[in-house]
Amino acid sequence: MRFPIQDTAWFLIIKAHAEHITTIRNGQMIVSKLNENYVIHDDFSVTPLPRVIRLEASSVCNLKCMYCPTGTKHNNSRGKMNMEVFGRIVDEIKSYNGVDVAVLYHGGESFLNKNIFMMIRELRAIGIRLIKANTNGTVFNEKMLIEIIESGLDSITFSIDGLSPQENNWIRKGADYFEVAKTVKRLIILKRQMNSQTPEIHIANTQIPDEETILSEKEVSTPRYLLDDFAEFKDEVIFEQYYTIKWPGYECSAEYVLVGPPSAGLVEPSNYCDHVVQLITFRWNGDVVPCCYDITSEYVVGNITVQSLAKIWNNERYRKLRKSICNGNYMPMCASCQVIRRNFIWRNEMRKVNLNFVKGS
Ligand code: SF4
Ligand code: SF4
Repeated sequence: MRFPIQDTAWFLIIKAHAEHITTIRNGQMIVSKLNENYVIHDDFSVTPLPRVIRLEASSVCNLKCMYCPTGTKHNNSRGKMNMEVFGRIVDEIKSYNGVDVAVLYHGGESFLNKNIFMMIRELRAIGIRLIKANTNGTVFNEKMLIEIIESGLDSITFSIDGLSPQENNWIRKGADYFEVAKTVKRLIILKRQMNSQTPEIHIANTQIPDEETILSEKEVSTPRYLLDDFAEFKDEVIFEQYYTIKWPGYECSAEYVLVGPPSAGLVEPSNYCDHVVQLITFRWNGDVVPCCYDITSEYVVGNITVQSLAKIWNNERYRKLRKSICNGNYMPMCASCQVIRRNFIWRNEMRKVNLNFVKGS
């Protein structure tokens, strides 16, 4: 079996592009159904330009989640994207008119950027078909919730973790489960009142696996407390759940244990990654990184404020990265990435405390 990976945007991409997902397999492209053939050339350049962009509206965050490079200060590049950088990105993607999907999320809380709604509107105005954002759900007031709906955002994912409200609060330091749940419910009610189909509302639940779970390769499922609490809204919320992974750039200290299931090891086939073919990520300061896993800018491939997207997409660093994946000579970032190799992170001692939370809930 395959364990689900943690990144929700990955699934969004697969859902959004199921009809024309392409991959690098053994150095060859799988041709898209829509005949929009992505081609990887001999020199590992790829055509056409990416269809999916990720924008880091903010890498600043108000929480301190225990598994996150941002929450634990492993992410040293912090800031909020200004409209100049955003405008530069918009100009670039407008010029080739090939982007279908925009994900407003990378290493922090996107809604801490006061320009986020302007960004959403502008992305829609230039014809982006699907616009998605992720949030910790702690920064909204009523006006912002209404703006979420009015902006035309297609999909929003709230992160709520653990197997109980108490465990959520322990993992997501600074968040209160009941407050976040109240916000999600309020957004649903506002959608009803405003007769709006959008945004689609997701709740992403990350669980810290214990040893037994990992060894038995038990499939991750929606926790009972969420199903019960949202029973009244069950048709208006989509639950997703994942096990905690180790993010590239996140150094495990002695108190953390990095474990894998019995089938741990390379994911098969391990010589392809859709991210480097279809997707590009812009950090808040214009730095371009190859994927959603690179929260700590381990492998910056360029900067959109000084280079064109076309130049960056097929520059030497990008081609080197693609080649390393195809050949199995992974960069450090890729070697521990869920796309290539399964791994999970948990904190043994504290997990016991968590289990008490679960029992007591
Ligand atoms: S809310 Fe998100 S970005 Fe912020 S610390 Fe938690 S996981 Fe990291
Ligand atoms: S870390 Fe490497 S293998 Fe993983 S998603 Fe990023 S580019 Fe692909």
